[in-house]
Amino acid sequence: MNLSQLFHTPHRRWNPLLREWVVVSPQRNQRPWLGKVEEPPAIHQPAYDPGCYLCPGNERARGAHNPAYTQTFVFDNDYAALLSDSPQIAAAESELMLARPERGICRVVCFSPRHDVAIPRLPLDGIHAVIDAWVSQFQSLGALDWVNHVQIFENRGALMGASNPHPHGQIWANGSLPNIPEKELASFREYRSSKKSCLLCDYLRLELAHGERIVCQNDAFVVLVPFWAVWPFETLLLPKRHLAAMHELSPLERELLADILRRTTIRYDNLFETAFPYSMGFHQRPTDGGSYPEWHIHAHYFPPLLRSATIQKFMVGFELLDSPQRDITPEDAAARLREINEVHYLDRTSMQQ
Ligand SMILES: [Zn+2]
Ligand SMILES: [Zn+2]
Ligand SMILES: [Zn+2]
Repeated sequence: MNLSQLFHTPHRRWNPLLREWVVVSPQRNQRPWLGKVEEPPAIHQPAYDPGCYLCPGNERARGAHNPAYTQTFVFDNDYAALLSDSPQIAAAESELMLARPERGICRVVCFSPRHDVAIPRLPLDGIHAVIDAWVSQFQSLGALDWVNHVQIFENRGALMGASNPHPHGQIWANGSLPNIPEKELASFREYRSSKKSCLLCDYLRLELAHGERIVCQNDAFVVLVPFWAVWPFETLLLPKRHLAAMHELSPLERELLADILRRTTIRYDNLFETAFPYSMGFHQRPTDGGSYPEWHIHAHYFPPLLRSATIQKFMVGFELLDSPQRDITPEDAAARLREINEVHYLDRTSMQQ
C-alpha cells in the first residue's frame, strides 16, 4: 500500500529524531471552528523606543546601559535561568528523588539596533551579522570546559512568551546535555551504526525525491515541513551538506543561510499577514570535546498559529497525556507555505499586490 493512501484518514506518523509517534487527523479540517482567538498584536513599532531595555543606549532592568551598538549586541541575561557559579553539590536520597547541580550561561542577542525590524525584514547583511554572532557565541561558550551544549534560539512574539518586541534571540549554554538533543543524539547514533549513513542526509534525499513537503531551498539549504511535524506550520531547516555545527559553514553557506532564514520567515509573515510568532532554534552537536560524526545540524521552527493571525493551537488533553496530534496534514501545510510570495507583505508596492 502506498503511504499517501493513508493521508486522508486518521493515521499516525513516526518521528525518527525523537522516536515517537504523532497522530494525524485530516478529516478534522472540516470542523467549522478551531482554536482560540487572540487579539492581533500591534503592527507598528517605532524604530527606537526610549522605554525598551534592548534598544541602543538604553538602561536595562538592573542598571546596566546598552552601548550605542550598530549591528548585533550580545549580553548576559540580567535575569538568567542558569548561573555559571552554581555550587556543584551532588545529592541523591534515592533513585526516585534524584537531583543534580546545573551550571549555565544565558545570553541575549539583539539582532539589530532597530526596534521594529525582525529577521524577515532585515537586509541580508544584517542577518549575516546575526549568524556571525551565533557562530562566535557557539565557539566561545562551547570552548568552556564545563559547557557541554549550546542552544541558540529565538522566541518571536508575545504568544511565544517573548517579553520584549525588540527582535532578539537567546543562547543558553549548559553543563548537561538537555533532553531533546540527548534523544536526537541517540537516534543519530543508532541510525548510523545500523545503516552506516546519516539519518538526516537519508531523510533529506527522500524528501527531495518526493517534493511534496518542500517549502523552499537554495544551493545549500532546504526548508520542509517534516513528515512527522506536530505544529500546524512547523518546519525543519537542513543544510544539504553533512555538518555538525554552524562554524563548519563556508562563507558562501553563511550567506545562503541568511537567504533561507529570510525567505522562510517572510513566508511565515505572509501566511496570515502578521508578525508570525514561533520558537525556533538550532540543534548542533554537543560541545564536550567529543567527536560527533553522526550529528547533522538543523533548525526547528515551531509556530503556534493554526488558521489565522488570531487562532492558535494548544497542546492539551490527549496531546498532553498521550501523543501529539494535528489536523492539517504536513503535505497541505507545505503546499500552503510553498505557494506564498517571498516579498514581505509590509514591503509590497501596490503593483505587487
Ligand atoms: Zn528596542
Ligand atoms: Zn547528514
Ligand atoms: Zn532537532
